Amino acid sequence: MAGAAGLVLAPARRLAAAAQTPTKGADVQRLSDDLFVLRIPGEANVVAHVGADGVVLVDGASAAGSDALMTAVASLPGGRPVETIFNTHWHPEQIGSNERLGKAGKTIVSHENTRLWLTTDVTWPWNGQRFKRLPKIAQPNKTFYTTGELKSGVRYGYIPDAAHTDGDLYVYFPKQNVLAVGDAVCGQGWPVVDYATGGWIGGIVGALQRLQPLTNDDTRVVPARGPVLGLADLKTQYEMYGKIYDRLTTLLNRGRGPSEAVAAKPTQEFDARMGNPDEFVRRAFESLWGYLSPDA
Ligand SMILES: [Zn+2]
Repeated sequence: MAGAAGLVLAPARRLAAAAQTPTKGADVQRLSDDLFVLRIPGEANVVAHVGADGVVLVDGASAAGSDALMTAVASLPGGRPVETIFNTHWHPEQIGSNERLGKAGKTIVSHENTRLWLTTDVTWPWNGQRFKRLPKIAQPNKTFYTTGELKSGVRYGYIPDAAHTDGDLYVYFPKQNVLAVGDAVCGQGWPVVDYATGGWIGGIVGALQRLQPLTNDDTRVVPARGPVLGLADLKTQYEMYGKIYDRLTTLLNRGRGPSEAVAAKPTQEFDARMGNPDEFVRRAFESLWGYLSPDA
């Protein structure tokens, strides 16, 4: 009887299993046996490492995407509870799982500047968008200034150029030769230059240069947006943003303003590949004020 019941039940179990994997809404890219990029529609990339000491996440989706992320993490091979999460910077697309993980007593790692931004309300001057501070339990509970290392050998460090914000960090997985870089490097379209919290076009160029010695030809570089990149992409982007930086600083030094910078088309030869640059150029130009203007 047990055998017959098993035969009847088996197809139903298989159907149930098929409905659950891959996790609804999440695309799982396997970088190695224990390292994955999780892509949930509308969310930033999340890197998940399944190690002996639990799951380590680099970024945690938005609050709206957190449930889908946790479902995706639970379905990974060898899935275990999340023990550690890195916030590559303070933006809502990165910190949406902090509250649940903080309440569960897990470790939330960020640069100290990221923690500070999460303890205060932020308003973006270019569109008036407002961001509320996080409750204490959701704020990073382990911060650093320069570099650090987890027990498992995973290394992390500050990217002090302020490419995207002034709290950008990278996480390097040496066994898998994978470098997660958050939004300090953009893998898709023009980047967001969040000059309200320190980011600037000079920092984009600086970070692209600084990260190259951390990689070799086989390193997979995982940005918060877009596909997995490599060293060749960092070099290409470094040249492109270097040219754009030079053109924008020339315009600034001639006393031009943001609208004139957009009209000067400083990204012209890249636009076919990269898309409409106007918002990026305006923001990148404005980001120079805080760093290069004499009265800054
Ligand atoms: Zn961001």
